[in-house]
Amino acid sequence: MEYNRNTGRVVLVTGGSRGIGAATVKRFSENGDRVAFFYRTNEDHAKKISDETGALGICADVSDPTSVQEGIRRIHELCGEISILVNNAGVAHIGLLSDMTDSEWERVIGTNLTGAFYVSRAVIPDMVRSHHGRIINIGSMWGKVGASCEVAYSASKAGLRGMSMALAKELGPSGITVNCIEPGVILTEMNQALSEDTLSSLCDETPISRLGTPEEVASAVLFLASDEAAFITGQTLGVDGGFAV
Ligand code: NDP
Repeated sequence: MEYNRNTGRVVLVTGGSRGIGAATVKRFSENGDRVAFFYRTNEDHAKKISDETGALGICADVSDPTSVQEGIRRIHELCGEISILVNNAGVAHIGLLSDMTDSEWERVIGTNLTGAFYVSRAVIPDMVRSHHGRIINIGSMWGKVGASCEVAYSASKAGLRGMSMALAKELGPSGITVNCIEPGVILTEMNQALSEDTLSSLCDETPISRLGTPEEVASAVLFLASDEAAFITGQTLGVDGGFAV
């Protein structure tokens, strides 16, 4: 796929090899942007998305600051300075908090929250230099209302909400907006562990009466990255069919 160099936008989507991240990579690529994405292990998925879109797939673990630095270095070398960052990489863990091990807790917080810190810290200097940038954090409605048996996950996503508001204030004077999207239940591999009964009752609890699609979340990301959203910062947008209202 040909990059549209007129737009001048270089986009990084973390966790872009599957689900919501992959839908977001496709939308930015269709838009003519130069897109790079991080994935953790699954090379087959990454290659498929790269082949389909022309996006640059990089194996980089967001929970490891050295890996993040190396990934950003490759993007600088091959694409240029980053002007749009989508902190999407995330992992879930279902179970009672009292049964959770230290390493399970660290994996969820380390990926979902600390990962967004490592990647943002590495990308912000690009945006400050050009006095323009967009950071979009993918939270979750569970960060707003809390999910039983997903305490670490809910805490990590509530953290992203707070991080988005605080960083919006810090970076506004540098021409950078920071917003958070909180999806509801979206049909991706992340939810494949949920039973049919659980998915069906989550569907019943959703005012729009269905589950969401990765493309619907990607549309909200594209909007927040657009010029039309230039005066929106520090906000949280629910893409949840009304679940968390
Ligand atoms: P998926 O499980 O389908 O995909 C997760 C993606 O993140 C994969 O590309 C995976 O790479 C990547 N990833 C995981 N850990 C790391 C890491 N340490 N470093 C780099 N990449 C990593 O997730 P979804 O598409 O469902 O979710 C995307 C985001 O949306 C997550 O933050 C999730 O919490 C959030 N969300 C999802 C909802 C849903 O219902 N699906 C609802 C609300 C929020 P690899 O394939 O190599 O493992």
